[in-house]
Amino acid sequence: MGIYTDTETTINGQLQAFSKNKEIPKVIEQLVFAALSHYPELAHTHIRFIFSQKLKKSVMAARPVVGTLLQSRNKRVYDILISPVFKLTQSIEPIHHLPKDVLIGWLGHELGHIMDYEQRTLWGVAKFGLLYWLSKRYVRKAERVADTFAVNRGMASYILSTKEFILGHSELSSRYKEKIARLYLSPDDIVELVSEMEKKTQPEKEELLADETALAQSTQGEDN
Ligand SMILES: [Zn+2]
Repeated sequence: MGIYTDTETTINGQLQAFSKNKEIPKVIEQLVFAALSHYPELAHTHIRFIFSQKLKKSVMAARPVVGTLLQSRNKRVYDILISPVFKLTQSIEPIHHLPKDVLIGWLGHELGHIMDYEQRTLWGVAKFGLLYWLSKRYVRKAERVADTFAVNRGMASYILSTKEFILGHSELSSRYKEKIARLYLSPDDIVELVSEMEKKTQPEKEELLADETALAQSTQGEDN
């Protein structure tokens, strides 16, 4: 047992602390813990990370388990669905073969959505679902809120890795890349957001985030 092993064991032990109320496939466990470590607010939240073949147009998706929304807030369950494979135009590879930082960034973004859901009442979540379905503009705002949460929780470098991976991947369909570029914060936006955040105090940061969230919540079905 060298020092390296000991250190690694300690880190794993610390990360284990994030496993409460979580269901995580073994193969991505360490990556999930790394992302969760940025969200102490979600320490007790029930989240299931599930490999799912159902995702058609995305690699991951966060959603509340509808049946649990009628129960009290602390009994809510969220699912983060994860495509088991990453499909490229020419090839296909298991999702966990992607670079670690890219996956941690992706998970961090999905956890940002859960932070957003957590602030909403049952009707707030219902409205979110409806507007997300109806309005492209609302989707864009909701995606930016998720990214902003992740950046505000110190995950900027991971989010950047994810964006750069997607936008710079020559083998991804140009349609998917266009969608990502249109709906999400661009790498430039993220850099700008980080420098903005660095100038701000903690209460100001929370305010900035509250503004983003309010903006997303106030958007009515303005389709475009
Ligand atoms: Zn998203």
